[in-house]
Amino acid sequence: MKSIKALTRPSIWEIKPYSSARDEFEIQDDNLLFLDANENPFNNNLNRYPDPKQFFLKQKLSELKHVKPKQILIGNGSDEVLDLLFRAFCEPFKDSILTLTPTYGMYGVLAHLNAIENQEVSLTSDFQIDVENVLKTIQKNTKIIILCSPNNPSGNLLDSKAIEQIIKVFDGLVIIDEAYIDFTNSRSWLDRLNEFPNLVVIQTLSKAYGLAAIRLGMCFASKNIIEILNKIKPPYNINSLTQDAALSGILKRDEVERQIKIIVTERNKLIIFLKQLYFVENVFPTDSNFILIRVDNANLRYKQLISKNVIVRNRHKQNLCQNCLRITIGTPDDNIKLINALKSI
Ligand SMILES: *Cc1c(COP(=O)(O)O)cnc(C)c1O
Repeated sequence: MKSIKALTRPSIWEIKPYSSARDEFEIQDDNLLFLDANENPFNNNLNRYPDPKQFFLKQKLSELKHVKPKQILIGNGSDEVLDLLFRAFCEPFKDSILTLTPTYGMYGVLAHLNAIENQEVSLTSDFQIDVENVLKTIQKNTKIIILCSPNNPSGNLLDSKAIEQIIKVFDGLVIIDEAYIDFTNSRSWLDRLNEFPNLVVIQTLSKAYGLAAIRLGMCFASKNIIEILNKIKPPYNINSLTQDAALSGILKRDEVERQIKIIVTERNKLIIFLKQLYFVENVFPTDSNFILIRVDNANLRYKQLISKNVIVRNRHKQNLCQNCLRITIGTPDDNIKLINALKSI
């Protein structure tokens, strides 16, 4: 791969980050009188700025994920993490990212927002990577390849040999978005972070951990990459309510595991039901908490479900997703309601 310096936008490499009051004086001691940040001094547990480095949260994540705290960046959702990566490494009107469609829509939106070209390469008809096509599409200014595994909206894991081949050949960054990794039995690419200096892994508390409302995304990469992102992140991007909720959330791993088991059981039940439904033509294999199905007429079935108070995602307009609906797995009760709605159509 190219050096991190060669990959970073020159203006960002040189940037001097804003130094917040909490950056300049970090020691926590109850005897210290903090008169440096223009805060209201009356304690209500929220009157002080949050820790800009999220020390305790990174400490816990480090134990849980077996990576060093210096290899972690926390964002206001994965969306902020992606935005920071684009802004750090892709020069507007010059550089590009490469994505595999159909995939998560935010990649394209954030690329557009940052005036970066999004080179789209189609997945194969079974939603796998066409490595040859990817490698031949890479240009001189392709800085980032994003691989979503398990992929949204198809639900499947991408082939790990194909991923490895791309990481090894590409001289820019490879981001693997593992938003749904907790629903699979597959190894996370985190295990191989130290093997590949150009690998960036993104995870989130929005899905399996049941904390979409707090907005917390995690980025794991080499210390050098994280250092660059730290220079440009908003100093107080993770508020203290979120830091506290994330800390207690990740400690409830047993409860999360229990819920994942229920979701996977419900998913497998629903797959069996869907496969024999008269208007369902294909139920795509899934490693996630959702199922992509092909029906006879997606727009019609989507509207009929709405009329029964069930909202699914219509993916009809996405590449390879003609007449496809994406269904998120709910609770066992939700599943009964969904099945009844489908039966009554
Ligand atoms: C839901 C989802 C995310 C999560 O984004 P947050 O901003 O962390 O809530 C990220 N990537 C993919 C592919 C998703 O489907």
